[in-house]
Amino acid sequence: MAVMLEPELETKGATIETLLQTPEGRRILTCIQCGTCAGTCPYGEYMDFPPRRIINMLRRGRIEEVFKSDSMLRCVACYACMTKCPRGIRLSDILLPLVKEQTLIHQPAIPAELQKTLQNTLRYGNPMGESSRKRVAWKATARVPVPVMAEVKRPVDVLWFVECYTAYYGRGQDNSRATAKLLNALGVDFAILGNEEKCAGDCGQLTWESGLFETLTDYNMEIFKKYRFNRLITGDAHAYNAFRIRYPMYGFDYRVDHTHMLLAEKLDQLKPKLTKKLNYTVTYHDSCCLGRRAGMYDEPRALLRAIPGAKLVEMTHNRMNSICCGGGGGGMWLDTFFKEKGMERLSERRVKEAIATGADVLAVSCPYEIYRFEDALKVIPHDKPMIVRDVAELLAESMGD
Ligand code: SF4
Ligand code: SF4
Repeated sequence: MAVMLEPELETKGATIETLLQTPEGRRILTCIQCGTCAGTCPYGEYMDFPPRRIINMLRRGRIEEVFKSDSMLRCVACYACMTKCPRGIRLSDILLPLVKEQTLIHQPAIPAELQKTLQNTLRYGNPMGESSRKRVAWKATARVPVPVMAEVKRPVDVLWFVECYTAYYGRGQDNSRATAKLLNALGVDFAILGNEEKCAGDCGQLTWESGLFETLTDYNMEIFKKYRFNRLITGDAHAYNAFRIRYPMYGFDYRVDHTHMLLAEKLDQLKPKLTKKLNYTVTYHDSCCLGRRAGMYDEPRALLRAIPGAKLVEMTHNRMNSICCGGGGGGMWLDTFFKEKGMERLSERRVKEAIATGADVLAVSCPYEIYRFEDALKVIPHDKPMIVRDVAELLAESMGD
């Protein structure tokens, strides 16, 4: 089924010079210099050139000065500026990635951790530099059937794109095992790509390394064409973002949903299976890709409310005003750079809010957040224990064994 959820970006192959010839590019010139973008940016105070100043420099023909500064490396692609811009300028979708790409080119040295990640992703198809042959290894621990497309040899209803953190890292695999359990319990006709899958490339795009992104897109598109399926799901908020917003420029026209959307759609069927009471107070963190960028606020909350015994409480900043975990736009691999610049980790800012709610569980919908928040909780003092769980993990726990 072909479902286009976003108006297609008209900026494929655009450069900062040609951008202003596109309608979206020309919209940049309608900026009223209100400063809302700079004010709402979680790292605005650390940027020499927040979005308002970038546009000012672009108008004055001085954009090269922006590229030479490392200011844009502080952008974690949180979509706050874009969501709140009164002129509807697609800052995080279009302008900022182009500025980032040029920033990387103009720096005397790219932060080592980021460079290694980009190299790994190009060479191995995943940021951690693992062998592609190990990508499907987690399946052996799933305790339920996880069909692989190349083996089922028939069309399936749902292609589940597992993604890197949830395929390779132990803590991410908890999410995959939980998702497999839920899909089986709901009788979903699904399969995964297994070792044929490579990173969707969202962070390559938003750091912006367009060549890397296009290499991954071309590869994944060829794999999709080998198989027949009706919709694609993924539990990775960044991959969801890539498939929904970027891949349509390369011919992708499948329906795509985050896993939690599919689960919320089947909530009536799921509820009777949630038999184990979880006496947790839960606070939910809206990820930038799903919340601000896709407007998915209600589905994860509906899933959490369906868990018997769970009580949902909100952090001060929630839904559209949620604070980024700091992992987007390459931030996942820039913590050392941020520390050198004296910047507070956003994940620490966020867990302080979570702790203040008195919750036992910080629930998330993006695999990056598991690592970022679990790390932050190690260094932020808190009297009462707090655990981080993907919504799918909590649902699977509530199903019992
Ligand atoms: S919020 Fe929009 S209109 Fe206001 S300064 Fe930023 S880009 Fe310009
Ligand atoms: S996307 Fe987020 S971090 Fe980047 S400039 Fe906009 S508000 Fe700041």
